[in-house]
Amino acid sequence: MFKSLDFSHERDITVEDVIRKVQTYYPEADFDLMRKAFALAEESHKGQMRSSGEEYIIHPINVAMTLAKLRMDADSIMAGFLHDVVEDCDVLPTDIEKEINPSVAMIVVGLTKISKINFRSKEEGQAENFRKMIVAMAKDIRVVIVKLADRMHNMRTLQYVSDAKQKKIAQETLDIYVPLASRLGINSVKSELEDLCLRFMHPDIYYRLAEKVAMKKSERDDYIGDTIEILREKLLDHGMKSEIKGRPKHFYSIYKKMTARGVDFEQIHDILAFRVIVSNITQCYKTLGIIHSAFTPIPGRFKDYIAIPKVNGYQSLHTMVIGPKAERIEIQIRTDEMDEVAETGVAAHWKYKEGIHSGRAKLDWVEQLLEFNQNVTNNSEFMDVVKNDLNVGGVFIFTPRGDVFELRHGATPLDFAFAIHSEVGSRCVGAKVNGKMVPLRYTLRSGDTVEVLTSKNQTPSKDWLNIVKSSRAKTKIKQHLLKVERENHKEIGKELLEKAFRKYDTSTKALEKAGELDKAYQGSSLSNVDEMFINVGSGKSTVHQILKHIPSLKAKLLEEQKSKEELSDIDQYSQKLSQAARRKSHKDNAVIVDGLDDIMVRIARCCNPIPGDPIKGYITRGRGITVHTAACTRMDQGEMGRDVHVEWNPDFNFNHPVNIRVITHDKPGILSTISKTINNSGVNIRSALAKSLPDRKGSFIFEIEVKDYSELLKICSQVESHEEVISVGRV
Ligand code: MN
Repeated sequence: MFKSLDFSHERDITVEDVIRKVQTYYPEADFDLMRKAFALAEESHKGQMRSSGEEYIIHPINVAMTLAKLRMDADSIMAGFLHDVVEDCDVLPTDIEKEINPSVAMIVVGLTKISKINFRSKEEGQAENFRKMIVAMAKDIRVVIVKLADRMHNMRTLQYVSDAKQKKIAQETLDIYVPLASRLGINSVKSELEDLCLRFMHPDIYYRLAEKVAMKKSERDDYIGDTIEILREKLLDHGMKSEIKGRPKHFYSIYKKMTARGVDFEQIHDILAFRVIVSNITQCYKTLGIIHSAFTPIPGRFKDYIAIPKVNGYQSLHTMVIGPKAERIEIQIRTDEMDEVAETGVAAHWKYKEGIHSGRAKLDWVEQLLEFNQNVTNNSEFMDVVKNDLNVGGVFIFTPRGDVFELRHGATPLDFAFAIHSEVGSRCVGAKVNGKMVPLRYTLRSGDTVEVLTSKNQTPSKDWLNIVKSSRAKTKIKQHLLKVERENHKEIGKELLEKAFRKYDTSTKALEKAGELDKAYQGSSLSNVDEMFINVGSGKSTVHQILKHIPSLKAKLLEEQKSKEELSDIDQYSQKLSQAARRKSHKDNAVIVDGLDDIMVRIARCCNPIPGDPIKGYITRGRGITVHTAACTRMDQGEMGRDVHVEWNPDFNFNHPVNIRVITHDKPGILSTISKTINNSGVNIRSALAKSLPDRKGSFIFEIEVKDYSELLKICSQVESHEEVISVGRV
């Protein structure tokens, strides 16, 4: 989250810079040997160039510097200098063993092996990739840490390679190295890699975020400065010294939040994070108490990773509060040691003086995996074990071929199917998770291998919308449903019109030939024939409305209309209404009735819809059009009529009466408190009815006047915010 460690590419860096850095934490290291390792690397890479046009040696120096920043031991630093010589030059491992020492040679050999893993090959699959990494890690965890430093610098200088290579390397980093860094607890490396991946995989999003974050920089810097000052003073009041840092969150975490919530940058408010570092655990909790009494904490956002550390050893208190300017800010509280562990993870335990074994003690899980690895031959079994260990962030789901997909928590096999391809999602009939059939609602867990079962005959259904969690899947399903609905309406419309045409001894084909079909839709102000079929099929237009625009049928229709025998009662009535409507045209109805300009409209009492509610209209004999909520079930019983498409008139401003019921704990003055809340937001109360309930509860029914549904919602949530209020609902 905080880039306290800066891993930027350094152009003019020398071996002496690295040595000076190591001296700050390990003054008794063998620097002559370190210079010798560097000299061997420089000699071997002589004449080689980076894609950036720089001398190759600049890369190993940067890698070694990253390792020094992570405070790694001397062998790791030297392996950083020499990490590419076996692969890219003619140096043999035995040369390193002789010239430097066996331990450095072993790390370099491990790195050379990793670099030969073809991570993208489909045949090997993701499970095998992880398996190889785990094997490399278990032999010596430093191999993977040096590898991460190597990848960090390669990502830092990725702009010099081709676009295709950028995407490929960034994807591989996100698939493999980010989960590993996360699992090893090296958060500084993890978040830096994530941001770099975002930059090269979605440059548009990355630069838009960078611009937005930079835009309000001076304002935000002031805000950060002020907040730090306030925090510092509050803590000093209680006699506590602290180190406080504040900065915007990493782009990748903002990006993840945007995609998870499906919102735009403007809607993400909690982009600032602060870190308070104090000297011991007692002070951590004391600090938390002080912060919570000074600022309002957001419920559900407090996490105690001190009492219960994360699997990767991370410890800290996390909370989120409403900051001094009413913005949400995240605050992490931890000790110095915890901070070092958080930044450098496993590397922090890697005390240069203590040797390999103390470092490895923290990595029981790698040992266990290695042991396990020797006893299993099958990848899926191996992944079963790995899955819990890589469980950080979203869930990682594998295809049977070993490709990995990251989905959000709570994702189902259906989400996974749509993540693979919308065609796979649409045809999904079931799924096997780790070889077993599961229901589509099954909640996937990290490491699950999911095989999607498809059928040619399957199509998405409406209830899938309740199953899927990802916005991608939801959108695809909705698009499909809409398309199917239009197709259905088109078929129905075609059929209805064909039937009608036949009655007049003609056909769609014949009319089309005569050019009369075009006149029919143009007369009804539609844009094409399909649109006309759809309108008829969905009931937006009546067959009659179309027929009367067909010149050759006009005369026949007029004749018929006189006798009116063909039309049903209701049809006659709807015709009368539309004729009446055309005569007197006033635009002051709350509801617009499709096809008919202005018309007598009555709001149904049974469900009392207000603007914003989904609605449906019914033409009823003698009473015009009644408007019900789409969900109302009563309309079918009492009234005989015909559906008509209706919608709210956006230009119509009128207060609609609506009843709300408020259940409260019985407390003196509660009625006036609620009434005041309603009145203060400018909403009129028509009447109020109070009743006492058992258990010392009260029930109030308010008849209020609101403009629309959103105003009603606002009022309800304001009333609900009183602590005495138990529930608020519409009646
Ligand atoms: Mn390298």
